[in-house]
Amino acid sequence: MMTQPLQVHGHEEAKRALRISQARSFAFVGPEAVGRRAVAHWWAALRNCEKPTDEPCGQCASCRAMAAAAHPDVLEKAPARSTRSGRATQRPTLRIDQLVPRSTPNADPEPVRRWLEARPQFRERIAILDDAHLVSEAAGNAFLKTLEEPPSWVRIILIAPSPRALLPTLASRVVTIRFGAVPVDAFTDLAPHPGLDSGQYGWLQRAREAPDVESLVRDATNAFTASLDGPLDEALEAGNAWLKVWMEHPTEAVPQRLLATLRHDDPGRYALALEALDQADQAVRAYVAKDVIASALTLRLRRR
Ligand SMILES: [Zn+2]
Repeated sequence: MMTQPLQVHGHEEAKRALRISQARSFAFVGPEAVGRRAVAHWWAALRNCEKPTDEPCGQCASCRAMAAAAHPDVLEKAPARSTRSGRATQRPTLRIDQLVPRSTPNADPEPVRRWLEARPQFRERIAILDDAHLVSEAAGNAFLKTLEEPPSWVRIILIAPSPRALLPTLASRVVTIRFGAVPVDAFTDLAPHPGLDSGQYGWLQRAREAPDVESLVRDATNAFTASLDGPLDEALEAGNAWLKVWMEHPTEAVPQRLLATLRHDDPGRYALALEALDQADQAVRAYVAKDVIASALTLRLRRR
């Protein structure tokens, strides 16, 4: 069974604002892995807790459902990585049928608007739209009315990197809560993990919980960056090995680690890597063969 903690590390100011806010729709904005989703879960727990203080009680039926990641009044919707006809997309998108009911074939059976219209089992229905900056314009516009005048028992949270990344029509209808780096002093032994520079608590915590994966990613990244100026066949081999690690552990933390290592050891290559990794990411989504992706990435990074 999946579990999720009801406590949040840091973000006291965001929590204070959320405890007193009367608004229904919010954007939680900030970098990846600092805790926007964790605060969304904390707040959903607090709003539905049967004995709330400043924190969810952790004991009531609602809190227990929340901790088990099985709360009936919390819905999370993330961008689809395929089109409705089932083809992989170049870019994941929150599609219109994920947000509002559509009668077309293969439409999402549980669109957010319909789900929000049903009465809560506890106190409030809370929808969390992950990566809401990836909402299509049509979907965003179709969802405006729900965002503006949701039923009284509804709260909506858009997770995004910044207000500017959101469609302006969405950004203007929500209260923005900003998330910055959180203190990560407890993780200094993981240095030089990139999450230490930017306070990305989520990545550091995962690194702590899975030290084997952590050392795998670290070693593959170091081997790849060290190979870039050496013989071509060794660089290609190291690139292949690095991509394999990324595909086996497909989180942002893997490419971010490569970027952080280059920023630190080889700044001249850093800008090149930003673009090369973006192209590699798109190729992965388009199901290009892995060895082709690894070679293209390696050759781009060797170019200087
Ligand atoms: Zn409770």
